[in-house]
Amino acid sequence: MHHYQTVLVAVDFSQHSEKAIARAKQLAAMYEAELQLLHVIEEPMYPIYDDISLSATPNAWFPDMLENLQKAATEKLTHLAETNQIPATSCHTLTGFPKTQIVDYANQIQADLIVMGRHGMSFFDKLIGSTTDSVLHQAQCDVMAVTLDS
Ligand code: AMP
Repeated sequence: MHHYQTVLVAVDFSQHSEKAIARAKQLAAMYEAELQLLHVIEEPMYPIYDDISLSATPNAWFPDMLENLQKAATEKLTHLAETNQIPATSCHTLTGFPKTQIVDYANQIQADLIVMGRHGMSFFDKLIGSTTDSVLHQAQCDVMAVTLDS
C-alpha cells in the first residue's frame, strides 16, 4: 500500500478548500505525512480604458498593492492554519496563476498528494475550466478533489 509522505492543500479560503484542509489533515495523520498549505495570490486585472483592455500589472499604478495583498493573504492563511492546529511554518503564499503555481509547487516540494476543493470561489474560471480540472490534468502526483457533501 502506498504511504503518502507529503500532502499539499491548495487553499483559496472558500468553504470547499476549508473542507480540503480537514480531509488532508485526516490523511496526513493516517499516513504520518507532512502537511503543507499553499495559497496563490492572483494579480488583480484592471481595465485600462472602458471595454478596451485589461492590465495584469496594477503594480505600476499602485506599487504597494501586491505587497499588501501578500501580507493579508499570509495572515489569513496563518490564521486558518492555527484554527486547524497546523503550524504557521506549513503555510506558503505565492503569486501568479493558481493552476500552474499549485502544480509547480507540488513538484518543488515533491508532494505525492494534492488535496483541493472540487469547487472554489472563482466564477469566471468555470467557463474556461476550473483550477481543479487543470491541476488534475497537469499534476505529476495524485490529486484529490474534495466535495462539500462528502
Ligand atoms: P476553482 O477550480 O477555482 O473553482 O477552485 C477549486 C479549488 O482550487 C479550491 O477549492 C482550491 O482548493 C483551489 N484553488 C483555487 N484558487 C486557488 C488559489 N488562488 N490558491 C490556492 N488554491 C486555489
